[in-house]
Amino acid sequence: MPEGRVTRAYSGHYYVESGGETFDCVARGRLRKERKEVLVGDMVSFSVTGPGSGAIEDILPRKSRLVRPPVANVDQAVVVMACDDPEPDLELLDRMLVAVGAAGLGAVVCFNKMDLVSDYASRKLARIYKRAGYTVVRASARARWGLRALRRALAGKISVFSGPSGVGKSALLNALEPGLRLRCGEISAKTGRGRHTTRHSMLLSVQPDGFVADTPGFSKLDLDLTGLRRENLGDLFPEFAAVRDRCRFTGCLHHKEPGCAVKAAVEAGEVSESRYTHYVKFLEEIIEAERKGKFW
Ligand code: GDP
Ligand code: ZN
Repeated sequence: MPEGRVTRAYSGHYYVESGGETFDCVARGRLRKERKEVLVGDMVSFSVTGPGSGAIEDILPRKSRLVRPPVANVDQAVVVMACDDPEPDLELLDRMLVAVGAAGLGAVVCFNKMDLVSDYASRKLARIYKRAGYTVVRASARARWGLRALRRALAGKISVFSGPSGVGKSALLNALEPGLRLRCGEISAKTGRGRHTTRHSMLLSVQPDGFVADTPGFSKLDLDLTGLRRENLGDLFPEFAAVRDRCRFTGCLHHKEPGCAVKAAVEAGEVSESRYTHYVKFLEEIIEAERKGKFW
């Protein structure tokens, strides 16, 4: 039986891409009876019922499932910040990276609008995140820089774009795939408050074999980190992993403990100060939330 990827859903129909063809499919009643909901991003097996049409027989096991946007099998988030206009908000970027890691997804950091700043300035931003262990792409949708690297980062994966509005998420996708013709701001418009939308999100194809959700992930609602446990936060800062074995105490929170190797690494300039500052801020948020919970 053929298998394919669901790229779009609308009123009971699903577009399934398989072997370079798109099939307009319905879901078998049996799936509904078993309460199996087909999601965009699902790999499915289907039978061909006519030219270009079919019926979904089963959903293959999912690797992951996001709630916002409701997409299955997302591999990674591309967190986009502008080098300027709007000014990069590194606390927000770090918060997003923690949320992405906590969701079990990989992360790519993209600094867009590098045409607006000096090469030195965009390199300095990129360096913080490269040294932390992330894949980093410097790009300019306007000048068409960095697009090959971005395309490479998307290849073979399902990605969601994240980042504040105005950083150029739609512009980057348009630059990669001019056929998409997303209006500026379009990729983020659907989360706008007060806008009623029942439209499902869909997957956009990026050559050669990448998919990107047309709705951004990790917006405000997903950025409350207080659901995390304090002892797990450090795992979501990849650069801490290399040194934390050398902390004097096991279970060190890298906060006020003496003999902390992470703090020593910050002082030695091996771990970025801004990353560490944000770690402490998030840690204190989590501790504060735990304290409130206790006296409830
Ligand atoms: P989104 O809200 O993240 O989807 O951002 P948009 O794609 O709508 O872009 C917001 C604004 O930034 C638009 O006016 C774009 O023309 C502009 N923009 C996007 N990419 C670049 C870039 O690389 N350089 C410059 N200078 N402007 C850009
Ligand atoms: Zn420590």
